[in-house]
Amino acid sequence: MTAAQPALSVVVPIFNELAVLPLFAERLRGVLDALGEAYEVVAVDDGSTDGTAAALTGLRAGWPELRVLRLRRNSGHQAALLAGLLRARGGYVVSIDADLQDPPEVIVELLRRARADGLDVVYGVRADRHRDTRFKRWTAAGYYRLVRRLVGEQVPAQAGDFRLLSRAVVEALRELPERGPVLRLVVPWLGFPGGEVAYQRQERAAGRTKYPLSRMAGLAAESVTAFSAAPLRVATWLGLAGVAVCGVLVVVAVLAWAGGGTVTGWPSLYLAILFLGAVQLLCLGLLGEYVARIYTAVQGRPAYAVAGDSADGEPVRPGGT
Ligand code: UDP
Ligand code: MG
Repeated sequence: MTAAQPALSVVVPIFNELAVLPLFAERLRGVLDALGEAYEVVAVDDGSTDGTAAALTGLRAGWPELRVLRLRRNSGHQAALLAGLLRARGGYVVSIDADLQDPPEVIVELLRRARADGLDVVYGVRADRHRDTRFKRWTAAGYYRLVRRLVGEQVPAQAGDFRLLSRAVVEALRELPERGPVLRLVVPWLGFPGGEVAYQRQERAAGRTKYPLSRMAGLAAESVTAFSAAPLRVATWLGLAGVAVCGVLVVVAVLAWAGGGTVTGWPSLYLAILFLGAVQLLCLGLLGEYVARIYTAVQGRPAYAVAGDSADGEPVRPGGT
């Protein structure tokens, strides 16, 4: 670390946020300048194609604390966040979304809590989600219930990726061999002393969500397979259940035969075949999920590629158009 290590780094993953970027930058800067401490903002341009890149370069000209990290291609929210975290230099590192759903003003409170209580992690926890759609609330509730069972009760419910980490946590993340960890689960799993700060999650100030249903489902699937091998055992249990049912059916068939009755039931035959076929495909699919994880891990390809970091004095090329 250089002597110029800032007290605070704020990491912002940004993908095609041209509509909200100026507004966000202004509010964030107001909050951080008022802190009266050395800080840096690490804006991670996750391969934007809408002019966000050029806008960031423009902002940097009048804001020396802004540092732009450019990824070569769109790598996804989690990967962009990780790229920023691992390059941040601050004693504390806060991650925040660029769409003003997480109010920058809360950063002050996160920092205050961390210092007052000597915490290494402070989660921003959504006080209420009445602004979210019923569907989003419902799926989110299911998601948190599931991951708390898998990872442990230290995973705060309703905490997204708005949080503060101490330098120690960032260094612990760096040590992890995992390539693309689900940060909101891996951070609590690391087991550092943590606290929570409740805040009101706002509407997106402008632009559109980059998290369609398919990505939410992907995150959920990854959260499960990253922390549990239980689904792999589903095949075993289904197999055992199938054997038990078969045993009963054999007895029934034998009794019917002894009693002179014929075993009819063409429907029961094809239903059984269909059902078993479906179960087998399901189990194969589950196996596939884990094999895919092993495959990705063995490839060892990084989750993102950094094209340039303005802190290195490298020319940071605006990507896209
Ligand atoms: N984001 C990113 N890469 C992506 C998708 C999103 O860096 O591939 C950023 C996005 O610009 C925003 C944050 O991640 O700052 C959260 O995304 P978004 O607001 O779209 O998600 P939501 O709040 O709807 O879950
Ligand atoms: Mg958002």
